[in-house]
Amino acid sequence: MRNATTALVLFSGGQDSATCLAWACARFDHVETLGIAYGQRHEVELACRKNVLAAFRTQFPDWGAKLGQDHCLDASVLLDIGETALTSDAEITMGENGLPTTFVPGRNILFFTLGGALAYRRSIMHIVAGVCETDYSGYPDCRDETVKAMQQTLRLGMDTDVTLHTPLMWIDKAATWSLAEELGGQDLIDLICEETHTCYVGDRSVRHDWGYGCGTCPACELRAEGYAKYRVGA
Ligand code: ZN
Repeated sequence: MRNATTALVLFSGGQDSATCLAWACARFDHVETLGIAYGQRHEVELACRKNVLAAFRTQFPDWGAKLGQDHCLDASVLLDIGETALTSDAEITMGENGLPTTFVPGRNILFFTLGGALAYRRSIMHIVAGVCETDYSGYPDCRDETVKAMQQTLRLGMDTDVTLHTPLMWIDKAATWSLAEELGGQDLIDLICEETHTCYVGDRSVRHDWGYGCGTCPACELRAEGYAKYRVGA
């Protein structure tokens, strides 16, 4: 039986996917989560996601009651394909192709495929992902066009009418913070600052006003700039 009131959130434990989790909890009756391990050097992200889920349950009981199974899948085959700055110690810099070395080719395509397959098995018709083309790093697999094509591919390839939701696609990081506030007030902002992880190098030794991170990698810069802009506008 198809379950139209359940969503599967691609949930990494970062700011964006935590905001998507709140977005899904506000819209659907049941929400399951999927974490994907691919040998990311910021593996701390995967530990954070458990804490974020626990915090959702205790601090937002209405949402917590909607949270169902948390799935974890291994996509470490990405490691076999080759060196990127997220899966090795390679420097985080701009590559000759105009993309940052943090780009993991095929990653989001694989994630959507795994999410689509899991959703199919669970009879879930809605998948929520925190991809965004507004202030992204030029990752082609974060583009709306890619997501629309993935949705079409999943629909055709599995003969299902699954829908991919991307609530952050057209908003910048400041607006992502604002969306979190709209959804869960200051409590959700505090939860995201304290429990989520975005830093590419996995640094949680320093707590900034926007959360933990090295403060200098592109992910930290984006998160910090977005937070500052959100605070000014708030
Ligand atoms: Zn960082």
